[in-house]
Amino acid sequence: MKNISELFGSLVFSDAVMQARLPKDTYRALKKTISQSTHLELEVANVVASVMKDWATEHGATHFTHWFQPMTGITAEKHDSFISVSDGKAIMEFSGKELVRGEPDASSFPSGGLRATFEARGYTAWDPTSYAFIKDGSLCIPTAFCSYGGEALDKKTPLLRSMDALDKEAMRVLKLFGNQKVKRVTATVGAEQEYFLIDQAVFAKRPDLIYTGRTLIGSRPSKGQELEDHYFVAIKPRVSAFMKELDEELWKLGIPAKTKHNEVAPAQHEMAPIFESSNIGTDHNQLTMELMRTIAAKHGMVCLLHEKPFAGVNGSGKHNNWSLSTDTGVNLLDPDDNPSDQFLLFLAAVIKAVDEYQDLLRVSVASAGNDHRLGANEAPPAIISMFVGDELAEILDAIEKGSAYHGKAKTQMEIGPKALPHFPKDTTDRNRTSPFAFTGNKFEFRMLGSSFSIAGPNFVLNAIVAESLRQFADRLEKAEDFQKDLSALIRETVTAHKRIIFNGNNYAGEWEVEAEKRGLSNLKTTVEALPAFITPKNIEVLTRHNVLAEEEIHSRYEILLENYCKVIHIEALTMLDMVKQEIIPAVLAYESDLAALIERKKALGGYAASLEENLLAKISDLSVSLGQKLDELDDWILNRKSDADILTSASYYRYTIFTGMSELRLAVDELETLIGGKYWPYPSYGAMLFSVMI
Ligand code: ADP
Ligand code: MG
Repeated sequence: MKNISELFGSLVFSDAVMQARLPKDTYRALKKTISQSTHLELEVANVVASVMKDWATEHGATHFTHWFQPMTGITAEKHDSFISVSDGKAIMEFSGKELVRGEPDASSFPSGGLRATFEARGYTAWDPTSYAFIKDGSLCIPTAFCSYGGEALDKKTPLLRSMDALDKEAMRVLKLFGNQKVKRVTATVGAEQEYFLIDQAVFAKRPDLIYTGRTLIGSRPSKGQELEDHYFVAIKPRVSAFMKELDEELWKLGIPAKTKHNEVAPAQHEMAPIFESSNIGTDHNQLTMELMRTIAAKHGMVCLLHEKPFAGVNGSGKHNNWSLSTDTGVNLLDPDDNPSDQFLLFLAAVIKAVDEYQDLLRVSVASAGNDHRLGANEAPPAIISMFVGDELAEILDAIEKGSAYHGKAKTQMEIGPKALPHFPKDTTDRNRTSPFAFTGNKFEFRMLGSSFSIAGPNFVLNAIVAESLRQFADRLEKAEDFQKDLSALIRETVTAHKRIIFNGNNYAGEWEVEAEKRGLSNLKTTVEALPAFITPKNIEVLTRHNVLAEEEIHSRYEILLENYCKVIHIEALTMLDMVKQEIIPAVLAYESDLAALIERKKALGGYAASLEENLLAKISDLSVSLGQKLDELDDWILNRKSDADILTSASYYRYTIFTGMSELRLAVDELETLIGGKYWPYPSYGAMLFSVMI
């Protein structure tokens, strides 16, 4: 391996490459576009394109593609070669027009009614704030994707709009504090990514994993995560080889992969990058997920990014670490040793935003896959609350009461043995159960599902915090006595929204009761959560900050519900197939062998009730229940109303079909424990979870 500094960003048309290769005035014009969101002239784009093409071809690229993020949640690309033919000779060409704009057929991407199928035109538009890169021989140009009418059909557009809104309102607030130097405030994000790795051979035998990403049946293994012996344990050589290659490939793309470790469940792992701007962090997380999949395959493994591949052990999430940075390098959510009023005002803005828009944050993490985590028997729960830690809690308390707060001195950590170092202890402990935790100088939103694009949760966060800041700025800009009004505003905000702060154990049953008393929302499933997307309050905040127009919100609401129905539909069909084609024949074969054995033994005479008879009786009983549950589910699928409105359909899928699947699963899983291993058609949980042995 080359050294890391040589490797890092070697496949990225980065700022350094641009500075080295672009003519000075072109570079300056492009930088202005990037830092101040100004429009880029076509002549400039032509120069950039030509330099980009030379750089890309020198690095082995033959094609270019506009790389975008449609509403499917994954990325899309359509490759064109640089080749054009002139006098029978191939020349490599790439124009500014091709760089700036693409025109993919949009009709096969979800649009939620924004575009009829006959209106196929869609546009991709270059996003110069995220660097172009080379992947698999193609120059990939990050782009936004919109319809002919200009409506956003992707995840990036609202994210960029929300970053602009947050910048605008945060700048207003900073000006009030006399800030002259800051020109831009950027939302930053570092997304910790959890995933499972299993052997390709077991994966290939599980249609449920292949079609749905999760196991639809499977009885619990004798060993899961009870011993807590997987978390942080030394990494197996095969996994380690995968992680090394992943790191290298990520680094080449300028993705600052930083931490890797084993997670709690067997076969579960995590990667965390160093944080970046929301936009770049989002693009990089998409690439990370893609590379995890392709590199796992090279190592004979499959990377599972589903939120709940296996019942009974932890599912996978994504921790969205979020903060606000100025272009002068200040983290606005860093309290330092002595929190300033400016810090407290930004903190108050987040507290207010999270409290007022709990439901919208919940919407941003809703999906069929994530329903297995949130509101199920796993954490974080579906209730949104904030952890601020002991020290900030005391500060907020003092603010509310108008009393003085005298900081907490850091104490020394003393472990005992003399040889161990003494170090200053943090003034507050960590909390791993909170869905939205302040972790020293950033917030960690922990409810995202592992397969999510982080764009959605981030544009919501950016928009709702922009709204708090807007209201603060409106008030403080009119203040006659700034300091007095500021103190009053912080105190009022903390008092009005303190119900959202909870520093205890979010997994405890009492919290659900307490949260209800506090009037916090508890939207347990996607079906319960999504209607909150289109309430007047939530439409108002998104439209006011130009993050999404009303039609765009409605279209996304439709897409999300439609996707929910389709996911459950595919799961149900897959399950029915597995049961009918493989499970039932296996059960019958085992039963018939047992019956034949009993007959043979009886023929020998002197036969008494025996092991095989008891077993056969148990299996027969369960088979009856299996048959009933199977017929029910079949009927429910057949009898679904195809003309129902989308929310009614989604409810039907959740409360009828999904429930039916769970009941059928119970019968199947119990049968698995009784049927002979060589009869059972699918690899067991144990075989999958422990498929990577060394
Ligand atoms: P912790 O130990 O609390 O999880 P780390 O420092 O390891 O904290 O960071 C966890 C994640 O948070 C990393 O992905 C990191 O890049 C990210 N992070 C750190 N600071 C910020 C910030 N200011 N804005 C956004 N993300 C951040
Ligand atoms: Mg963390």
